Amino acid sequence: MCSSSEKQQIFCVVLCVFMLQYLNMWRAQVSMTCGWVFCKRKLRVCVATCNRADYSKLAPIMFGIKSHPDEFELEVVVLGSHLIDDYGNTFRMIEQDDFDIGSKLHTIVRGEDEAAMVESVGLALVKLPDVLQRLCPDLLIVHGDRFDALALATAAALMNIRILHLEGGEVSGTIDDSIRHAISKLAHYHACCTRRAEKYLIAMCEDHSRILLAGCPSYDKLLSTHHREDYMDIIKSWLGDKVQEHDYIVALQHPVTTDIQHSIKIYGLMLDALICFNKKTLILFPNIDAGSKEMVRAMRKKGIEQHPNFRAVKHIPFEQFIQLVCHAGCMIGNSSCGVREAGAFGTPVINLGTRQTGRETGENVLHVRDADTYNKIYHALELQFGKRYPCSKIYGDGNAVPRILKFLRTINLDEPLQKTFCFPPVKDSISQDIDHILETQSALSVDLGGTNLRVAIVCMMGKIVKKYTQPNPKTFEARMQLILKMCSEAMLDAVRLNCRILGVGVSTGGRVNAQEGVVLHSTQLIQEWSSVDLRTPISDALHLPVWVDNDGNCAALAERKFGHGRGVENFVTVITGTGIGGGIIHNSELVHGSTFCAAELGHIMVSLDGPECSCGSRGCIEAYASGQALQREAKRLHDEDLLKVEGRDMKLLEPVTAAHLINAAKLGNSKAEAALNKASTALGVGIINILHIVNPSLVILSGVLASYYQAPVQQVITERALFSAQSIKVLTSDLEEPALLGAASLVLDYATRRTY
Ligand SMILES: [Zn+2]
Repeated sequence: MCSSSEKQQIFCVVLCVFMLQYLNMWRAQVSMTCGWVFCKRKLRVCVATCNRADYSKLAPIMFGIKSHPDEFELEVVVLGSHLIDDYGNTFRMIEQDDFDIGSKLHTIVRGEDEAAMVESVGLALVKLPDVLQRLCPDLLIVHGDRFDALALATAAALMNIRILHLEGGEVSGTIDDSIRHAISKLAHYHACCTRRAEKYLIAMCEDHSRILLAGCPSYDKLLSTHHREDYMDIIKSWLGDKVQEHDYIVALQHPVTTDIQHSIKIYGLMLDALICFNKKTLILFPNIDAGSKEMVRAMRKKGIEQHPNFRAVKHIPFEQFIQLVCHAGCMIGNSSCGVREAGAFGTPVINLGTRQTGRETGENVLHVRDADTYNKIYHALELQFGKRYPCSKIYGDGNAVPRILKFLRTINLDEPLQKTFCFPPVKDSISQDIDHILETQSALSVDLGGTNLRVAIVCMMGKIVKKYTQPNPKTFEARMQLILKMCSEAMLDAVRLNCRILGVGVSTGGRVNAQEGVVLHSTQLIQEWSSVDLRTPISDALHLPVWVDNDGNCAALAERKFGHGRGVENFVTVITGTGIGGGIIHNSELVHGSTFCAAELGHIMVSLDGPECSCGSRGCIEAYASGQALQREAKRLHDEDLLKVEGRDMKLLEPVTAAHLINAAKLGNSKAEAALNKASTALGVGIINILHIVNPSLVILSGVLASYYQAPVQQVITERALFSAQSIKVLTSDLEEPALLGAASLVLDYATRRTY
């Protein structure tokens, strides 16, 4: 009995508490309705728990939240197997822990098969909106990878309620993985347990700033309370007075929903092995997943519930379960408790089947993945039973809850709810826009010269995107091999460079049957190069159309598409390099002739008994005016000591070339001047012959000697051509790579005739 003054005091205290509470409520209401904030509003946190396993992780957080009533408001929603008698009515644990359960939702459709799980998700989704609307939490905390949790996360995400997901980023195998990752995708915040899980969440494109590496909340309690004086009392209360420490087994095997039949088989084998192993065994009923009924049936069939060594139970309070696992001789089954919590005590664990495949485990876990025989399981028991392992802290250091509370305080409700995913940088996707397609259409060009073999990626606009050069091999086989190798390399680069290769164009020395893609006959410059089918092997190797033409013709095509010949109906190209070649464009088309010998301009004869030509004949303009011909003249003058320039010594340590002749002429060497004059006249006369035959409107000189010949050739034309042809212009090409560009135009002109 208290005195009357004490009663008064108590009354005053109660009154004060009431008033304070009222004031708090009023403040909360005001700040909610008017946005007029006295201080930071409390965070309304809703914790939803579905079964005893997730409650063991959520409870420490719930206690933490409850112990800070000035900062947080806690709402508890209970659903799933918590409310089912067969699974121990585990919601009572929550009541015993003195939490107010705001809502109990019966969401389990009985049947324990796949369809029942789906229906349970559906039932939860039907019931949850009402509850969430009523509770109106700022944040919903869900745990793990159960189908109930998927329903919770789905409902909250769709109702714009922020979600904190516990244990995301882990890998365990089975459908659990898919569900866990799906929940992570719906969640706005993550509190994960291991460093690997954190990395996986980042790899799953979750925002790193919203991921907390907390450790497992159950470890907090585990590491702070597992040294209990009365542990033997607890163990004896479950397994009888005669039981000894480290001399009993804890068994907990759940169905694997993706392989129910197999997991039932493993369950039977485990029971056989345990019966035979003949140790005190505490066996827990499997969880509610599809397949659990069959498991319980198997257990009853083997008489486990009546067996003197066994104690079969539906539920053990978590703290007691911890003591039982901590001091067990070993733990067997596929429960996550085995691979996670047991590691903290160093208890030996035998993990059966695939349910925990991929989980991070300490060295205390022995995996029997294909637990397909009784012998394997029995042998594993022999290996593990009674052993002790060092304690593992993979899943936490005992400070998860303080970390999570600190993290909750940082949640800014003014931040947009919309999740942002942190995708890795990806190269821009190739546009399907028609303009883009037109711009990226490209050709693979091959140029087979006397010295070099070159390949290029040439885009629609005539830009050489990439060029590859190798010495042209001397033998046919080596040359073909190199062509294919270089083309294949270029094809790979083209993909990277965003060039759509439409085909391959080949420019080669020699006479070419352009219709069939065959080199008929080549000059001495390219050896072993007659009757060569170029189209078939290249086309077969690259799966692309192939066009082939002579290098002179290609140079003309290059001018028509990219050079001075654009829009010109009739023009002639003359290439003055090592040899002399050319192409004739007549009425905008190449002239090939009856045996592909048209426009062999180098072998236009300008004298009946001129110098010998590479073709075997005499007096061809190539024999007068080609690079080879000029070099021959330079050598002759040099040998006769006539290449000297007054007052200067020609540098002749290097081989004598056409350039020396031109240089000497420029500096006033009359012999050199005369030789060049003869060459220019021969070339000019040859070109006049062309003018008189096809009467083009333009002559384009290309090749290394073009700039030298341009003026003298124009001069010869003015002096010697028929009056009507005298005004025809001679220009120097400004294309850098006429052969490669011409080969490209073979492709681009044919392949892009489609109209868009
Ligand atoms: Zn000739």
